[in-house]
Amino acid sequence: MSSLGLADIYAARQRLAGLVRRPPLQPSPMLSALAGGEVRLKLECLQETGSFKLRGATSKLASLDAEARARGVIAVSTGNHGRAVAFAASRLGVRAVICLSELVPANKVEAIRALGAEVVITGKSQDEAERHAERLIETEGLVYVHPFDDPAVLTGQGTIGLELIEDWPEVDTCLVPLSGGGLIAGIALALKTVRPGVRMIGISMVEGAAMHESLEAGRPIEVEERPSLADSLGGGIGLHNRLTFALCRELVDETLLLSEAEIAAGMRHLFMAERLVAEGGAAVGVAALLAGKVDLGGRRTAILVSGQNVDMTRFLDVVGKGGDG
Ligand SMILES: *Cc1c(COP(=O)(O)O)cnc(C)c1O
Repeated sequence: MSSLGLADIYAARQRLAGLVRRPPLQPSPMLSALAGGEVRLKLECLQETGSFKLRGATSKLASLDAEARARGVIAVSTGNHGRAVAFAASRLGVRAVICLSELVPANKVEAIRALGAEVVITGKSQDEAERHAERLIETEGLVYVHPFDDPAVLTGQGTIGLELIEDWPEVDTCLVPLSGGGLIAGIALALKTVRPGVRMIGISMVEGAAMHESLEAGRPIEVEERPSLADSLGGGIGLHNRLTFALCRELVDETLLLSEAEIAAGMRHLFMAERLVAEGGAAVGVAALLAGKVDLGGRRTAILVSGQNVDMTRFLDVVGKGGDG
């Protein structure tokens, strides 16, 4: 078990000062009426780079000493983590290498390059890209930035928890998208230290929910990755998970799974009723409420809307399908 605590999250907040936004915690009258209790949305979709991952990446990079910064950092991700590492690195003047497989579409490669990172394209799969990254770590001394299983990353995400408790001291339930678990573990660490009774609910998609399956099995297990609207929640937790599995086991009260149709309804509702663009993985909290999968009656619930980086053609297709969302 880790010995991470509130002091580490305050330390992360100091590292982030002036480098990340503090998005609003926005009341939702419509969702409150639906839930029968007060609901507010934490809008990390409005974070710079379009997702909360900037907090963890910036926290990690700012924690490195001058020597490590001079050598540079490396990450393997086409998605929100890759963008966040590239952006944080250029902001802090650190060299960043992002390893991608040959399968990654050119527009995604360009987006990472445009943020100032060096892109290394190698291998025919994510696994091969990861093996190449391992070699670069050995030969060039680059520092690996893990997307979730790292104390500096996890405490960076945990700064959201500090903001929640400051902006809404009475909050008693928190709905959080769940993949590797850095986000929910960080927030839970902050919230439960201050309010032990807070209920933490982690939400994933039916299609490949690695943390949910691992918690059920009692140990980290691999799940088959399948396409999902919530692509930012894909990927495993690592068979040799260091931190997040144990923290989720200790701090997460419940996990829920959603179908693709339920996730689409969450995206539609956020767009039509709240005027927000959310990617599938970011809409799962609202989607769980709409699907009637959580009882929030009489509770004060914060729902984390974690990112907005969705392909717009796909987004318009989903929100244009109508339905009652
Ligand atoms: C990475 C990500 C998550 C999940 O965070 P974990 O720390 O891996 O659980 C949720 N939403 C979005 C938009 C993400 O990019």
